[in-house]
Amino acid sequence: MKTAVYPGSFDPVTYGHIDIIERAAKLFDKVIVLVSMNPVKPADFSTSERVNFLERCVKPGNVVIDSHTGLFIDYFKEKNADVIVKGLRAMSDFEYEFQMALLNKDMCHTAETIFLSANAASMFLSSSAVKQIAMFGGDISAFVHHAILSDVTSKLKIK
Ligand code: ADP
Repeated sequence: MKTAVYPGSFDPVTYGHIDIIERAAKLFDKVIVLVSMNPVKPADFSTSERVNFLERCVKPGNVVIDSHTGLFIDYFKEKNADVIVKGLRAMSDFEYEFQMALLNKDMCHTAETIFLSANAASMFLSSSAVKQIAMFGGDISAFVHHAILSDVTSKLKIK
């Protein structure tokens, strides 16, 4: 039984994240999508909102949504997980993700990071870009699942 953990801010979840989750769910017995706290990247949506958005967009099956505030690798060890899944967009993600993979491996020798390439349509999609578009009333329906679209836009739109 192979368990993968896919950590991120998911602030909010986009179709890029959903694509990675669905593909990881085909590769592993269980996928935990972990809403993590990043102290250098404050979130616009609360942890419970981000978890709730994920629960509304992702088909359950072998995918579980969870959240964690401490050091990621402690969670990974506590769950006896096997693999860390990360999505890779163009070159921009590479340096940071490579550094995190090596640091996590250093802290836990069994922690293998597997990178799934973003699909062509999501290559330039990020939560922060989506938020900027929504703040100015732009249409984000191509980037964010319809189940959460109105909740995301109503919170972000500058009144
Ligand atoms: P963001 O940069 O959008 O705020 P997150 O911190 O939520 O991203 O990212 C969590 C993980 O999902 C990271 O591995 C990131 O590279 C990946 N990811 C983010 N957006 C996409 C996308 N559009 N396509 C594929 N992977 C993505």
